[in-house]
Parts: sequence; structure tokens; C-alpha cells
Amino acid sequence: MSNSEKIALITGASRGIGKAIALTLGRLGIRIAGTSTTEDGANSISKYLNQTGIEGRGYVLDVAEDESVASCVSKVVEEFGHPLIVVNNAGITRDNLLLRMKSAEWADVINTNLSSLYRINKIAIKGMTKARWGRIINISSVVGASGNAGQTNYSASKAGAEGFARSLAQEIGSRGITVNSVAPGFIQTDMTGMLSEAQVKDLLNKIPLKRLGQPEEVAEVVAFLVSESAGYITGETIHVNGGMHM
Ligand code: NAP
Repeated sequence: MSNSEKIALITGASRGIGKAIALTLGRLGIRIAGTSTTEDGANSISKYLNQTGIEGRGYVLDVAEDESVASCVSKVVEEFGHPLIVVNNAGITRDNLLLRMKSAEWADVINTNLSSLYRINKIAIKGMTKARWGRIINISSVVGASGNAGQTNYSASKAGAEGFARSLAQEIGSRGITVNSVAPGFIQTDMTGMLSEAQVKDLLNKIPLKRLGQPEEVAEVVAFLVSESAGYITGETIHVNGGMHM
């Protein structure tokens, strides 16, 4: 199957890592359905795809809502066909020490980062199963493996995403579908823009490569995993973290 026959659904493609993934896969000729929680965000995705000559468009999606997922996926299927590549990239943080963490901070992160995988992948694997080809990539995080004080909710959601990928990989490998995780370290996006100068300085001390990563450095690994060259890799987590966790 050629890239132009494939459609990739990329959640959270309005900025940061998701945008870099959309542009990188789009430049390979894959058609892109990128999502944002807002109309403005969806329009901005359509605009940057258009400006770079990539076929596809932006959609509104809230991964935390069953109905929003069902309606977004059915629109994509109607307009482009079944997405055979799904990149579960949308994610949030609500950091707090456990003693102070409110139940909404716990629930929002688990619902957005982890329960979303149940919602989206359950629908998406139907088309992949029919095509007997598919690629699912969950964007997890280094802290899923290393842990991080103040992020019990976030690191639990990301460790969960990796376990989810390993189990689903075993369920659907016989259909030619691979399921993997990419675990970024600290990448320069709006999410890490919230860190103070002192926090960044402290972080750099722990990163052998002495810099934050760029969204494109994560996107290139996703591009490899969705390619035919990665057809024998499944249930794996690839870390992109400058060596901060080995
Ligand atoms: P970001 O710049 O904060 O962008 C987040 C994206 O997710 C936006 O496109 C946002 O859409 C979307 N989003 C947020 N809540 C959503 C929801 N409920 N439904 C659908 N989309 C939603 O994030 P990023 O830094 O690029 O991170 C992308 C992924 O990488 C996340 O899963 C994050 O946990 C993971 N990660 C990031 C880092 C890092 O250092 N940056 C490190 C490890 C892992 P809107 O357009 O609506 O805002």
C-alpha cells in the first residue's frame, strides 16, 4: 500500500509534538486528519497542511468524550476512509504532590491521557483489521518509566499507555497491526514552556545531551514506526530523551 492511500489520525495536532508529527508524516505523502479541541485549532491545522501542500484537514476532537471521538472518527472515515495510522498524541498535565492533588486533577489526566486510548483505538482497529494493516503509536513519556515527583497522575497515565500498547499488540498482531509507544523526554513545546528557568537548568544537569529535545526529533521516530521498515516492531517503547533515563 502506498503512503498516499493511507490516512493518519493524529490527536492534538494543533501545536508541539502533534504538529511536528502531522508535518513529518504529511511530507511522506500520508494524508493527515489532525485534531484540536477547538474550531480555531482545527482551522489552523487545515491551514498549515494546506500551506505545505499536504492533503488532509483539521477536525475538532475532545479525546476525553466518547461522543466526540465517535463523531470525529466517523467524519474522517466519511471524508478520507478508515485511518490505518493512529497517533494518540493528545495529552495534558495537572501536576501536584499527591497529598494536595484534587480528584479532578487525577481524573482529568487519566481520562485524557489513558482512557482516550480505549475510546479511539477500539474504534480505529476495525478499519485496520479489515485492511489487515495498521499502525498505532501512543505518545507516552519518560516519566512513565522514571516517575517524577508531582506527577503521580501523569506518570501513571503514561505507564498505563505503554502497558495498553503491549496488550493490544498481542491481541491484533495476527492482523498485521503493530502497536508501539514513543516516550519523549523533555521536548521544547508549550507543555514544557510552563517550566521556570531554574527548573530547566536543573533538568539540563540530568540530560547527557545538555538540551531539550525538538518536536521533530520525536516525529522522526514516529515516522519510522509507521513505515514498512518497522513492520517487525510491536509492543515496544522507544525513548527519545537525550539520555536522561537509560
Ligand atoms: P502541547 O504543546 O501542550 O499540545 C497538546 C495538544 O493536545 C494540543 O494540540 C491540544 O489541543 C491537544 N489536547 C489537549 N487536551 C485534549 C483533549 N482533551 N482532546 C484532544 N486534544 C487535546 O503538548 P506537547 O508537549 O506537544 O505534548 C504532546 C504529547 O507528548 C502529550 O501526550 C504529552 O504528554 C507528551 N509528552 C510531551 C513532552 C514534552 O516535553 N513536551 C514530554 C513527554 C511526553 P488544542 O489545540 O485544543 O490545545
